[in-house]
Amino acid sequence: MDAWRVLTDDIIRCRACPRLVAWREQVAHEKRRAYRDWDYWGRPVPGFGDPQARLLIVGLAPGAHGSNRTGRMFTGDSSGDTLYAALWRAGFANQPTARHAGDGLKLTDAFVTAVARCAPPNNRPAVEEMTACRSFLAREWALMPQVRVILALGQVAFDGCLRLLRDMGYPLPRLKFSHGLQHTFHPSHSAGPKHLMAAYHPSRQNTQTGRLTPAMLDELFALVRVLLD
Ligand code: SF4
Repeated sequence: MDAWRVLTDDIIRCRACPRLVAWREQVAHEKRRAYRDWDYWGRPVPGFGDPQARLLIVGLAPGAHGSNRTGRMFTGDSSGDTLYAALWRAGFANQPTARHAGDGLKLTDAFVTAVARCAPPNNRPAVEEMTACRSFLAREWALMPQVRVILALGQVAFDGCLRLLRDMGYPLPRLKFSHGLQHTFHPSHSAGPKHLMAAYHPSRQNTQTGRLTPAMLDELFALVRVLLD
């Protein structure tokens, strides 16, 4: 079995966080009325995209009725609608929509993952749950030495990326989350990621209030392109 298959199997089988296991399964059992005919995934969600990607996008956690229903990162809810439409406009995705795992969506040069793999109550994983889950993120990063840009979506994902980078020996200054932040790592790190970026999470709350707009995401991914090229 190749390393990706082993990692995916380990993620899908994980039951390390009792609170999240109970919640993801409860949501999958009760379902939302609009999705009552769905067979919810109800398990941890592995990363999705191009294993050769140079852009790694890190989100928070599966949505209860989004990824926890469809089994694919950022798929089946408004956050995914916003993110994948932007990735499509920027040339990283072959289509602007993400409805279900078999909808034909393919990413090129981008990989989407999260700091927690199980849907949390109120979209808030506990610190110890993210600590438990960080090893999966570390294993994904280890399988993608070609990654050049890490884009963290939201404060929690940003903090998770900082912790992992420090664990990996990156000497980082104090960095404060802000949309559009771009930090270039010290050149002594010749291998591995070169840049860390941050953006508001594409949640409905952020898009409906105008805190995050399609134009802001287009500007951000244009900068990602410059950094990759
Ligand atoms: S959040 Fe991560 S560590 Fe916790 S049960 Fe889910 S997959 Fe396992």
